[in-house]
Amino acid sequence: MKPRILVSACLGFCSCRYDGSVIKNDLVDLLSDYVEFVTVCPEMGIGLPAPREAIRVVTQKQERKLLGSYSGVDYTKDMETFVQTFMDGLDVDQIDGIILKGKSPTCGFKDVKQYPSHGKVQSLLTKTSGFFGGALKSAYSSLVIEDDGRLLNWEIRDHFLTMVFVHNQFRKVKVSNQKAKALVDFHSTNKYLFMAYNQSALQRLGRIIANHEKKPIDEVIEKYEKGLEDIYHASLKPGKNVNTLLHLFGYFKTLLSAEEKSFFLEQVEHYKRELVSLPALLLVLKGWVIRFDEPYLKNQTIFEHYPLSLNQEKSKGS
Ligand code: SF4
Repeated sequence: MKPRILVSACLGFCSCRYDGSVIKNDLVDLLSDYVEFVTVCPEMGIGLPAPREAIRVVTQKQERKLLGSYSGVDYTKDMETFVQTFMDGLDVDQIDGIILKGKSPTCGFKDVKQYPSHGKVQSLLTKTSGFFGGALKSAYSSLVIEDDGRLLNWEIRDHFLTMVFVHNQFRKVKVSNQKAKALVDFHSTNKYLFMAYNQSALQRLGRIIANHEKKPIDEVIEKYEKGLEDIYHASLKPGKNVNTLLHLFGYFKTLLSAEEKSFFLEQVEHYKRELVSLPALLLVLKGWVIRFDEPYLKNQTIFEHYPLSLNQEKSKGS
């Protein structure tokens, strides 16, 4: 079961922008080998043609409207109806992440310009969300939602891809014939990844799995899924994963030479000062996993959260 991503259709799928263009998106291109896309263009969804007059968010007396930028034609009701109908019809359990066109008055979920009226006026100082993107962001707290602009940042992109693949693995747990075993395996293989993101959330998830109240498995899965949100929305802060690194290092302490140990601990000190990256230290650890054939660590997702070739552009640039 491949990950499934909902995406704004103008990001490589259709020439549906207001000016009749389509935007080439490198990440969407790379992802196409690994995920299924579900595309949507809400503006075409309300019957607008391409090309068309640009539209904008107009805020007056705290009331937001979606208007033709120069004509002032009011599309608010049409768009609100579209958004509601789309969300009612979307099987969100089948979606692992969402990529939206940033800054669009429709698809943007933050940093969208708003204006005091239609016509030739300056935008307001404060930004807002688009009608579609904002609604998705408020409704789907269990999904990672990003826009094309933010995904140019490598930390945001790494987080997004990681969580899309984690979410997809969890969807497989939910449809497994042996849900209890699948859930334990899921928790176990993601242990150090989750520890790196949010140690207290990992502990809470561990208590849910222990299931001391002997609840039915579907109830345990539902509770676990809710708890996963604390992982989805955490961040991997540079220099802050010393605890996870030392836990992993602990597997090899008695197997390594004094020189290897002091080399690694020195690199951890460099990591704390952000002189060395987390992936560099994970590579050293992964080498030891292979060399010492450490079974528990072999399948840990912290060593590969998603297919490495999705970092292709980054490697080219570095
Ligand atoms: S930003 Fe959204 S509404 Fe605008 S063209 Fe792209 S998909 Fe359509």
